[in-house]
Amino acid sequence: MPDDLALRLLAGALPQLEASFRNLPPHTNDSSAMDAMAAVMTQVAQRMADNYPYFHPLYAGQMLKPPHALAQAAYALAMYINPNNHALDGGRASSYMEIEAVREMARMFGWTEFLGHLTSGGTFANLEALWIAAQLSPGKSVLASEQAHYTHSRISSVLGLPFATVPADDRGRMDVAALESTLRNGDVGTVVVTLGTTATGAVDPLHKVLTLRDTYPFRVHVDAAYGGYFTLAPNLGEEAARAFACIAQADSIVVDPHKHGLQPYGCGCILFRDPAVGRFYQHDSPYTYFTSRDLHLGEISLECSRAGASAVALWATQQLLPLIRMGEFANGLASSREAAMLLHHKISADDRFFSPFPPELDILVWAVRAATVPASSRLAQQIFAAAAGQNLHLALAQLPSRFFPAGSWPDQHQQGTVTCLRSVLMKPEHLSWLQEIWSRLSQVTGEVLAEPVTSAMAP
Ligand SMILES: *Cc1c(COP(=O)(O)O)cnc(C)c1O
Repeated sequence: MPDDLALRLLAGALPQLEASFRNLPPHTNDSSAMDAMAAVMTQVAQRMADNYPYFHPLYAGQMLKPPHALAQAAYALAMYINPNNHALDGGRASSYMEIEAVREMARMFGWTEFLGHLTSGGTFANLEALWIAAQLSPGKSVLASEQAHYTHSRISSVLGLPFATVPADDRGRMDVAALESTLRNGDVGTVVVTLGTTATGAVDPLHKVLTLRDTYPFRVHVDAAYGGYFTLAPNLGEEAARAFACIAQADSIVVDPHKHGLQPYGCGCILFRDPAVGRFYQHDSPYTYFTSRDLHLGEISLECSRAGASAVALWATQQLLPLIRMGEFANGLASSREAAMLLHHKISADDRFFSPFPPELDILVWAVRAATVPASSRLAQQIFAAAAGQNLHLALAQLPSRFFPAGSWPDQHQQGTVTCLRSVLMKPEHLSWLQEIWSRLSQVTGEVLAEPVTSAMAP
């Protein structure tokens, strides 16, 4: 079990950290309440059992990837200090580790000069990107694809910016012709390009959006909270690879180490191509005492207190698994993508299912063949529940039925939606578990379809 590995790593390093502070007068934690604490921990263990087994390869549902054992151990070791990366006064070592770790993230996208830092997650990272965009072109609108994360419309409303969606094509990617006709009307400040949508892992055609910048002035913000690390993957399809290849031309990039980067929650990252945007963050606060001339991360971020432990865990992970092409981390992403392509192949060849399009990253969606769209949706829900009963955890997604080939159902409408099965194969081990995943899926599907037709076909 990785958690056991983390405990061993922690036990090895904690005495070393403690020893570094041995010059202080003795100060020990009160252990008289040990029995009471142990009793509460028993309750905690019981309560935490009420979860899906996110750590196991048969959990192949939502975007949940277990943190690396090294990240767990480094995070826990940092807890001995509990640093706050707001200021060097609150977390000196961890602030420098954040600066180094973020430099590696920027380098992964081809940037050596940039401004960036970690955040509590992708939402806050995107907020900072759109906030800077608003400072540069006040009152101008934000555009994102209808398949973009809902956070962009909410953030725009927080910032008081007009927001509009751009239709997606039938593969869930931003429709560039539709984007251009909106741009023609003017007053667009920022276009959000999603490299890896949350629902289907679709990759917006960044290369085509960038060429529109020659004609219309707008900022390009890349939301790669989920998909960003795939820039290292060697086995992307041609179009996705073209989009990732020009990511360095974006004005800002968001990527979430707590999604695909093997980190515990509480770790997002925002990067700006132009370091000069740092001027918008300037503030003077009587509460925070900046005692050093060096950069305090609180001077370039909207959040104040932030877990320094997140930076320590990320730094440690990147020491072991550098963000390089052909490295072990990149190979893990390649395995995930291969697993998704293999499962897509099996699903496409099985006439009980419909597959709308091949996966661009490692997220797969598919529908169940049935006489009507509502019957198909109901079967998807039944298969989802039956699979969970067999310890195979999938997810459900509500998708436009136009994503599927015309004639997939007699009552298929351009505007309608269908409930689909969805699987995020983001653990590298999913590849070696694929046969097991497929055989469980195939078996429960057979059982659900064999049930009396009335329950499946009732309106
Ligand atoms: C997950 C996600 C977000 C939101 O990030 P959080 O870390 O959940 O706050 C934004 N955009 C995309 C594309 C995402 O996948």
